[in-house]
Amino acid sequence: KISFYNGEFKNDDELRVKYQDRAFYFGDGVYEVIRYYEGEFFTLDEHLDRLMNSMAEIEIEGVSRQELLDIVTELKERNTIENGALYIQVSRGIQNRNHAYPVDVEPVVLAYINEARRPRTQSENGVHVITSEDYRWLKCHVKSLNLLANVMEKERAVKAGAHETVMHRDQVVTEGSSTNVFIVKNGVLKTHPANNFILNGITRLEVLKIAKQLGIETDETGFTVEELKEADEVIITSTTQEITPVVKIDDTIISDGQRGSVTNRIQEVFDANIHKLNLV
Ligand code: PMP
Repeated sequence: KISFYNGEFKNDDELRVKYQDRAFYFGDGVYEVIRYYEGEFFTLDEHLDRLMNSMAEIEIEGVSRQELLDIVTELKERNTIENGALYIQVSRGIQNRNHAYPVDVEPVVLAYINEARRPRTQSENGVHVITSEDYRWLKCHVKSLNLLANVMEKERAVKAGAHETVMHRDQVVTEGSSTNVFIVKNGVLKTHPANNFILNGITRLEVLKIAKQLGIETDETGFTVEELKEADEVIITSTTQEITPVVKIDDTIISDGQRGSVTNRIQEVFDANIHKLNLV
């Protein structure tokens, strides 16, 4: 497998990362995970735009969108993986540990591809989630390498035998540890507004777009934990999780423990989009 680090494409066995990379000791960088299906990137432009935005938000300068595009394109070409998830991160650079931004140091890009399969069973049967207080920082719109709270909250779900943790601030549902969250209530699709309390998921945006195409009413004003548990349907979304129904939240069963019909309709269009078929 060929990966990319600090300007070079190398075989994974030969690839050496620098321990002075600020990504390690400060999590000082940003990242993206980009899916491709049957050799074709899915929503690549959106991911690159968001990466550029994340970099701007944390004041990393010196890497152009074109450079990033060239890296991901070449990486995909150098690996013979038909269905993959490409990880790309940009760190502030390599320097002896010092909190202040380094001077005259170039950002460092790391990128690699792993084989990925579509989460078909979960998309059909749904998953269980638990809820917990969102205690993360106030810049959750930045796709930062600092994922300690997300990791700890995901582990809480794993320990509870669940798939994901849905977080809330003062009872307002924000997002999952690595997913965005939607509910359907009386035919209206609701989700948290795209502000600093959530990452504005590319899949979130796809779902909203599909809903509008299907004539499903959308509402981006958010909802409470109580509304979550009383919803007709609940969905979590992400690049790798795609559109996954939630059938149990803590001890509450949702939509009779099955995928709901609105979820199903949105999934059908999403599938068609992946295969570049025009359903709507
Ligand atoms: N929120 C968080 C905190 C995430 O880590 C992710 C996945 N990267 C998402 C939402 C979903 O974003 P996307 O649909 O762009 O993968």
